[in-house]
Amino acid sequence: MNSITVKAYAKINLGLDVIRKRPDGYHDVSMIMQSVNLYDTINIKKTKFQSITLRSNLYYLPTDRRNLVYKAVEVFQELHPIRSGLSIFINKRIPVAAGLAGGSADAAATLKGLNRLYQADLSLEDLMKLGLKLGADVPYCLLMGTALSEGIGEILSPLSPMPDCSLLLVKPDISVSTKFVYENLRLNEKTRHPNIQTMLDVLHEGNIYKLAPLMENILESVTIKEHPIIGDIKVKMKEREALAALMSGSGPTVFGVFDNHHKAEKAYRFFKSSGYGKQVILTKPYFPDDKFER
Ligand code: ATP
Repeated sequence: MNSITVKAYAKINLGLDVIRKRPDGYHDVSMIMQSVNLYDTINIKKTKFQSITLRSNLYYLPTDRRNLVYKAVEVFQELHPIRSGLSIFINKRIPVAAGLAGGSADAAATLKGLNRLYQADLSLEDLMKLGLKLGADVPYCLLMGTALSEGIGEILSPLSPMPDCSLLLVKPDISVSTKFVYENLRLNEKTRHPNIQTMLDVLHEGNIYKLAPLMENILESVTIKEHPIIGDIKVKMKEREALAALMSGSGPTVFGVFDNHHKAEKAYRFFKSSGYGKQVILTKPYFPDDKFER
């Protein structure tokens, strides 16, 4: 095999709670993750040179060591030698710095792609250990589907798939620094936490009407104060009959959950023409095919 193309799926957080700040500066989290049917494609080609060259369709994406795909190639070599050069092209469709884990998804897909391209036969667990070196969300991006993520993101438990629905992603034209959001999150006895345990209890019932009202993201308390447009998008989404509307990750993307594709399409048209969203994407939850994608 000389080349391979892999898909890197975005994620949303159906629930996001931060439990505590740890002495090492990281935060212990409790998050319900869900892959969505929105993906980058990464083409990895062996070359006869010794270098790694990276290109993408976005001029502003770094193509050197700052890119997580580049770093993924480097950590992969800790477990399996790469005796060729590589030419990699990333076709980005996942909005960048959006709370959708686009970089982590690319890193995860690159590890999987290299594993197949070099027939390295590394297990999912091996890849997840490598992935954690690249970022807290990378192990989840290797697992995909619906999962509970705890610790700093490295403790993963697969969950029953979320019920079928339409998902509308709206990313406003603002930048949110993940570091800023976590640093400004106030955790004390008065802090209101999402009820992740109840979400877990409800998930296996497969009832979107019970699940949606429980969806919450504790980080909104920081971002909405700083960027009221995130709150405005949530209101507009709910006015258009979204069962839930909340921010993904540390933002700024807001997603709406719809029980009906027509309602979601109507909301999509509204956000496309309103100026609230720089990027507006209508999609669905995504579930990997265990045999081919894990
Ligand atoms: P998370 O939800 O994990 O916080 P995010 O969706 O907010 O991630 P990313 O799209 O992963 O953010 O991008 C965050 C930063 O990572 C960007 O500033 C970007 O320059 C850098 N980056 C490095 N590699 C990539 C990549 N392959 N795709 C996107 N961004 C990348």
